Amino acid sequence: MGHIDEGSSKGGGTVASLSRARRNIEEHHYRFTPQREAICRVFLGEPTRHFAAEEIRALFSRSDGPGPATVYRTLAVLQDVGLLRRVDTGDGCARYEWAPHDATTHCHLVCIGCGAVQEIDWSHMPDLAAVLDAEDFEVTTLPSVFGHCRRCREQGSGEMRTDSA
Ligand SMILES: [Zn+2]
Ligand SMILES: [Zn+2]
Repeated sequence: MGHIDEGSSKGGGTVASLSRARRNIEEHHYRFTPQREAICRVFLGEPTRHFAAEEIRALFSRSDGPGPATVYRTLAVLQDVGLLRRVDTGDGCARYEWAPHDATTHCHLVCIGCGAVQEIDWSHMPDLAAVLDAEDFEVTTLPSVFGHCRRCREQGSGEMRTDSA
């Protein structure tokens, strides 16, 4: 088994988060299988990254880790128990982030030129946050704002990425 990610994390943060993830999964009556642990570790290694489902699958393609069907099923389970959040990046591919990395949530600036995803602190949207709070509404997919990042504009390519293949 290749060491997918021991996390360059500080201290025992990953271990604490992993045991928390385990508790979360078991509370929802799922088993904390080695495959689920392996995929949790990938996200814990880079908790602020927005992984495409395809990227996760590719990570395991050269190891004796979970196969594609298990990977996709696991992502669905982790989303179901609230450990992953689906991120809308407008390119039709499923992206996920580690939900516990930001309990208060945030929104995303998504560049349709290069696909870069930038996180914007929720405190910049106090009115929306207050509304969601008042309505007691649980967010499952974070709002995204689409456009062109500065780097893409400076490179002068106004072309939009249309290849979803
Ligand atoms: Zn860009
Ligand atoms: Zn995010």
